[in-house]
Amino acid sequence: MDIIVQKYGGTSVGSVERIQNVARRVIETKQSGHHVVVVVSAMGDTTDQLITLARQIHKNPPKRELDMLMATGEQTSMALLAMAIDEYGYKAVSLTGYQGGIHTDGYFSKAKIDSIDPHRIQEALEKDQIVIVAGFQGYTDALEITTLGRGGSDTTAVAIAVALNAAKCEIYTDVLGIYTADPRMVSTAKLLPTISYDEILEMAKLGAGVMHPRSVELARKNNMPLVVRSTFDFTNDGTEIIEVKEMEKAQVRGVTLDEDIVRISVPNVPDRPGIAYKLFSSLINLNVHIDMILQNLNHDGFNDISFTVPLEDIDRIIPTIEAFVDEVGASPILVKKDVAKLSIVGTGITSDVKIASGLFGKIYELGINIEMISTSEIKISCIINQNQAQQALEEVHRYFEVNGL
Ligand code: ASP
Ligand code: MG
Repeated sequence: MDIIVQKYGGTSVGSVERIQNVARRVIETKQSGHHVVVVVSAMGDTTDQLITLARQIHKNPPKRELDMLMATGEQTSMALLAMAIDEYGYKAVSLTGYQGGIHTDGYFSKAKIDSIDPHRIQEALEKDQIVIVAGFQGYTDALEITTLGRGGSDTTAVAIAVALNAAKCEIYTDVLGIYTADPRMVSTAKLLPTISYDEILEMAKLGAGVMHPRSVELARKNNMPLVVRSTFDFTNDGTEIIEVKEMEKAQVRGVTLDEDIVRISVPNVPDRPGIAYKLFSSLINLNVHIDMILQNLNHDGFNDISFTVPLEDIDRIIPTIEAFVDEVGASPILVKKDVAKLSIVGTGITSDVKIASGLFGKIYELGINIEMISTSEIKISCIINQNQAQQALEEVHRYFEVNGL
């Protein structure tokens, strides 16, 4: 019998009725002749509430204890789901990350899964039980409990699907699937029946909030069929994530907006070899995600270097950049928080200059200045002012909708 892994997000298991709804869905899948392994998130916004509680007790909670605390969220939902399934007359067993054999490295709150020993899951399946595994958590060599970073249950689900050689991994969520833009921000966003691994990975990284990027990377690497679909509307097939070899024609598939970024500029950096190296190597140990980097030739012998970082990292990296400024004699840094990154995503779009010029033309028409641009094979991103970002998102989406989104 083949195995289907289903992951249910926090909203999907957010109440008693919703847990019962999930139980029925799981049972239906079982009845249609599959083994089912379910991965659950914590109910509703439990994880946020647990973090808030911790911060009321301690201004900077010890990471080990915070993971211990956060891991309880998923244990609540897995046990309740097992009970709901049992109440409907089916056999179910819930397993923690440890019991499910999910082994991770030791980085609390951002642990990575390094191996899975699925024997306990397999034994339960052989007994014809429905297996429910806590998402988002694992254990280390030292038998510590770790968590995988916010949204990490997606990654738990894909990793288990790969370890069990499942037929597919279904991600159940509160929207119908993957859209051409965030439907909460763009009312005309359309559901995509299919999207490529690369495109969804890019969209996830660009802040589309659809899936944990690591889960997509893992699925792509292992060719695990992935489906994103709704917990509340079983009639809709959702979005299938597929491998796309060649596109007939480059096409914009999605438009994203990330408002949680900051632009940092270091003006008047001496123009000599090794300077960029000095600046960015000083940031290595801070483990910060540097995104766009721009160096412009300024005036005799000096450059400006600008780059973007996630909003949450800004405070902890400023001292290091200021130390760099002092050392090389640059001007004081400029930090601009009211910026946003607007991106278009689609396989091969940078090879068609009509697409880039269409994007820039639309932004120009809106009277918005583009502060930085970066591209990859499948995306074009622009840094713009945050107060016009929402309008730009809608207008750019509309433009590409008319022009073949
Ligand atoms: N409960 C965790 C979170 O809220 C993990 C997840 O939902 O994927 O981030
Ligand atoms: Mg989530």
